Amino acid sequence: MRVSRLMLVTLRDDPAEAEIPSHRLLLRAGYIRRIGSGIYAYLPLLWRVLQKVSAIVREEMNATGALETLLPQLQPSELWERSGRWQGYTAGEGIMFHLLDRQDRSLGLGPTHEEVITALAADLLRSYRQLPVCLYQIQTKFRDEIRPRFGLMRGREFIMKDAYSFHADEQDLKAAYGVMDQAYRRIFERCGLRAVAVEADSGAIGGSASQEFMVTADAGEDLILASPDGRYAANQERACSRVEPAVPLATTAPPTLLATPAQRSIEALCSAHGFDPSQTVKVLVLLARFASGGPLPVLVSLRGDQTLNPVKLSNAVSARCADSGALLSLEPITPEQVLAEGLEPWPLGFLGPHLPDALLQGAASWQQRFLRLADPSAADLGAFVCGANSLDHHLVGACWGEAMPTPDTADLRAAQPGDRCLHDPEQRLEASRGIEVGHIFQLGRKYSTALDACFTNEAGVEEPLWMGCYGIGVSRLAQAAVEQHHDANGICWPLPIAPYEVIVVVANMQEPVQVELAERLDAALEAGGLEVLLDDRPERAGVKFKDADLIGIPWRVVVGRGAAQGQVELVERRSGERQELAAADLPAQLIAVVEAGRLGRGAPSC
Ligand code: ATP
Ligand code: MG
Repeated sequence: MRVSRLMLVTLRDDPAEAEIPSHRLLLRAGYIRRIGSGIYAYLPLLWRVLQKVSAIVREEMNATGALETLLPQLQPSELWERSGRWQGYTAGEGIMFHLLDRQDRSLGLGPTHEEVITALAADLLRSYRQLPVCLYQIQTKFRDEIRPRFGLMRGREFIMKDAYSFHADEQDLKAAYGVMDQAYRRIFERCGLRAVAVEADSGAIGGSASQEFMVTADAGEDLILASPDGRYAANQERACSRVEPAVPLATTAPPTLLATPAQRSIEALCSAHGFDPSQTVKVLVLLARFASGGPLPVLVSLRGDQTLNPVKLSNAVSARCADSGALLSLEPITPEQVLAEGLEPWPLGFLGPHLPDALLQGAASWQQRFLRLADPSAADLGAFVCGANSLDHHLVGACWGEAMPTPDTADLRAAQPGDRCLHDPEQRLEASRGIEVGHIFQLGRKYSTALDACFTNEAGVEEPLWMGCYGIGVSRLAQAAVEQHHDANGICWPLPIAPYEVIVVVANMQEPVQVELAERLDAALEAGGLEVLLDDRPERAGVKFKDADLIGIPWRVVVGRGAAQGQVELVERRSGERQELAAADLPAQLIAVVEAGRLGRGAPSC
């Protein structure tokens, strides 16, 4: 392919819209153009990368026995109503684009396909004899992300591979999950990516076990917490750790009231009175809004030195309020909201776990009881300091008991870097950042039960199908590869997913000897099965070298002054190593290295 015919437009300067290296480089090197917020055109060079990634994904999926399919992107709301997800995905912070058709029928643009596939399974799968089966597709997904950013990393329209498996029992589902785990590891390795598997929160997709695959990179949006011995790694959303013992509080039974004027925070309270934060219980009050029923005030007790993990809290609240439908939002209650409900002002900053339900009496729209939850770090305390439910006062020596029943406990605290690990207290969690490129779930029977997807088991009894689902962000993966493989001069594509494998640069297009030799080499390399660019533009050599580095083609052949003597230069992009060699020897030598590189041997790292 001639570069002059490639519609290649590279940018010298960093585009203002891009914050992270991979986004900047994809724009500068002519791989993508922004069309709207979170909406990108994949230009021909990127499309080749995406096709290569897709081909690797396809090969590995096919090798597991999965069947490729293509499901509709326009999805009737009725299916999502049956699974109970329509409200959660469209109202509040819901991310599904949705519309009415000319007959006023409500439709969503697929952000994911559990509903559609489960409806198909209900229709097609009848007997255990048809199981297990796994279907996958590689297709554009739509998500109205709250903060689209970083180019293809968080787009509103992006390419995903999603697979769904159906099983007769849980054991078979677990086995398939293990097979997918291995297939995913091969996919990332073949794409030249360093990826790690971490325990993950199952989020809105639901289900039990789930694992994410993270490409480690400083620009990653996710925080990974892992033990140095490699036995534990989890997304911080999900991570657990040991809590350090609290400093015991010298008790003053019965509890005494302490004047704490304007000491609303744990820091202010502790520094004024010499308490250790671990001796205190802090109480957070939030409002949960659901698809059905009035908003529910939630009172959370945490040990004062601990931090809330909002994902764990959302899961705990959802699990306890399954009858109210999807949890739409969970936000701290403000003084203004209390007044707007027609209630007396609350002593915010001085609340205790025993804040009475009476404070909710007469609320205009809120439910008139608190959902009370405590993290074990708070629930396990003997005597502690907490708000006294009256302005400018705390209680010292409060205890759980008859007067202050222990709330329902749930793991709500955020594990932090430096925390001791559950599996071995000698190990401490270390933090790194990651880009989530894949996620595999054991869904269990959540969707099959909701959408009535049943099969007849060996004993002749009808039961819901067991399901798994498995996603890879194909377009995000392509950008993550750039984030992991670039240097000051541009992209260094891993060979198996590079848009072209070799670029032959003619140093001076005015020199017929150079042009003629370059064209001969281009033809010989292509005949050998290599994917070759020929930079035939009438530009200065320096400009062409810069562009070749920027777009990141793994091998560069320079046909310059040595052409008259039959000599060319071969440069490896990632190492910058160069060697002079006879043009006659080049094709055989380069074909051999490229063929080895395609197998992922010596995955390049910059
Ligand atoms: P995230 O937590 O990053 O929002 P998710 O957990 O919602 O992602 P999944 O539903 O697990 O995403 O989707 C499967 C894969 O699709 C993800 O692992 C990720 O690689 C990719 N993906 C998800 N959202 C986006 C997006 N907005 N843009 C690009 N890729 C995405
Ligand atoms: Mg995910």
